[in-house]
Amino acid sequence: MILLAFVFGFVLLHELGHSVVALHHGVPVKQITLYPLGGIASLGYMPREPMKEMQIAIAGPLVNFVLAALFSLVYFLVPGGFFATLVGVNLVLGLFNLLPGFPLDGGRILKGLSGAAPPTLPASPSVGQVLAWNNCPKAHRTWLR
Ligand SMILES: [Zn+2]
Repeated sequence: MILLAFVFGFVLLHELGHSVVALHHGVPVKQITLYPLGGIASLGYMPREPMKEMQIAIAGPLVNFVLAALFSLVYFLVPGGFFATLVGVNLVLGLFNLLPGFPLDGGRILKGLSGAAPPTLPASPSVGQVLAWNNCPKAHRTWLR
């Protein structure tokens, strides 16, 4: 029973991780709904910037990995099966949420990564434009002026 309370707490901290980063980016958090083995942080909206969406999405699993690291330290100081279980629970929560599919965090992270590719410079000419410019005497005159 106490383990279930810890899992519930870890899920809450996971959702709070999403919420804190969302608030940091100015995104309102409407509510956090907790289920026995999961939760949902309902945001006012999802930011249009892919990097912000990705940061919000990765914050939850990151909380679980930090908790796993902390409980690993406690486990080395006070070896016991309970702390090893807490490490395992956080690793499972973090890794499960990183699965690449919606509505899991992994899906949002992938979406953010795909949208976060550096844009091509609008001023960078294509190969065709460079060849056309090189073959246009008027362009050379303009360039040499
Ligand atoms: Zn999450």
